[in-house]
Amino acid sequence: MESAKKDIRALTKDQLRDFFVANGDKAFRGNQVYEWLWQKSAHSFETMTNISKETREMLEKNFVINHIKVDQMQRSSDGTIKNAVQLYDGLIVESVLIPTATRTTACVSSQVGCSLDCKFCATSRLKRMRNLNPDEIYDQVVAIDNESRLYFDKPLSNIVFMGMGEPLMNYKNVLQSIEKITSKEGLGMSPKRITVSTSGVPKMIKKMADEEVKFNLAVSLHSAIDEVRTSIMPFNKNFPLKDLREALQYWYSKTKNRITYEYVVWKGINDTQADVEALVKFCRFAPSKVNIIEYNPIDDGAFQQASNNAIDMYQKTLEANNITVTVRRSRGKDIDAACGQLANKS
Ligand code: SF4
Repeated sequence: MESAKKDIRALTKDQLRDFFVANGDKAFRGNQVYEWLWQKSAHSFETMTNISKETREMLEKNFVINHIKVDQMQRSSDGTIKNAVQLYDGLIVESVLIPTATRTTACVSSQVGCSLDCKFCATSRLKRMRNLNPDEIYDQVVAIDNESRLYFDKPLSNIVFMGMGEPLMNYKNVLQSIEKITSKEGLGMSPKRITVSTSGVPKMIKKMADEEVKFNLAVSLHSAIDEVRTSIMPFNKNFPLKDLREALQYWYSKTKNRITYEYVVWKGINDTQADVEALVKFCRFAPSKVNIIEYNPIDDGAFQQASNNAIDMYQKTLEANNITVTVRRSRGKDIDAACGQLANKS
């Protein structure tokens, strides 16, 4: 029966080598198949042309390749591409390709739905169904890399874990996917081109620091005042700012990597001088960069983008305190592909 077969990409290279030895073949056959599965991203055993027909049939009998399928692709007038990606069990997640003059960035999902409940985010309205497997995350990157080559004539240059889901709530699989993305047997990308963006789970940030990961960390902060942050990101009640700061301090002491904060300024929520002063104070303990992101309203309009004056106030105050700041325009708004808009509406 189809369901009794194992997902072959859940096996490590060593387990695959052992499988072949146990079946009277050479361990080396495991290396060949592993290369087909990851580096060549094979969708079927049939395409593995340097493997004998007999072996391919034996693999077919024992395993499946649960490859994702890009169910629908939408292109924005600004070039942004959004993929609705179908998983082996029929569930859908979204991933986005963001092109600029100098780079193409993949924004990938790590969970179906999300475990958290940020009030401004469309994904939070979807119940968390399950975590994505490492291969499902990897496949999103491969699909976007192919699109980047096809439509922009260059390979994918950067990856952000900023799509659907909280990556640190699917820690093990996210790290395994990064291992594959960066390994020579996978895509061979530099970890410096990968950013994991979290809402801030202190325990997991410390764990990452202990494991000396090489990728970048970004924190969706949005307020440095507990009361305000809890009102827009209710889980902040359990992980208050003092715990987050302590974890980030630990991260910096171990990695010496600058911390990036993602920050949206909303009208009437966090657009006062007191809000920016709290942010400056929060940033002081380590070299920081603040990305101010334009907000993309989701349908009920409870959150509105702050005025240009408020954004200017943030920018000037941060710069006056020697904190690097960028103000990012939103991309792909017309196809609901912008930050906070991913909600399987396509
Ligand atoms: S902003 Fe991120 S962590 Fe918060 S609900 Fe949306 S997907 Fe989840």
